[in-house]
Amino acid sequence: MKYQRLSLAACFLLLLFNLTAFSQSDSGRLEIAFPLKHLKQTSGFGWRIHPITGEFHFHKGVDLAARNDTVFSIMNGVVCKIGNNPLIGNYILITHPDDVQSLYGHLSAIAVLPDDKVTAGQLIGITGATGRVTGEHLHFSIKYHGHELSPLAFLCGMNALPP
Ligand SMILES: [Zn+2]
Repeated sequence: MKYQRLSLAACFLLLLFNLTAFSQSDSGRLEIAFPLKHLKQTSGFGWRIHPITGEFHFHKGVDLAARNDTVFSIMNGVVCKIGNNPLIGNYILITHPDDVQSLYGHLSAIAVLPDDKVTAGQLIGITGATGRVTGEHLHFSIKYHGHELSPLAFLCGMNALPP
């Protein structure tokens, strides 16, 4: 399977209208879900001044507004790792087909264990404010062949794949 890129503009449009998650595929052609029911970006992918350290650094994921919200696996996969880290708090790392990995951080609760098989749209945890945060949100990132991609561009691109 090849992932095509979709323009960032389209993604921003999606965010602008605060669309709710497309479900994991009525048509059966896509097995993809949003990590939260509602996506509202509070900090984007790319260079930024870190809200706590004040340093200029590359934010390798997106921060999504959340309050005690259910977190969903974006695709079918296998839980690679769960853990706690001073920066991203309680986190889940999932490995998907085609060398895609998704990471969900700052969780208050984790509902999966390493090596668990998960499906797109499956509940995997609850958002929280663990790790280094100024407030509750979901840190969500995507790695493709070991490189971080803009997670929302990735999701939009997946949603735009032809049948
Ligand atoms: Zn973040």
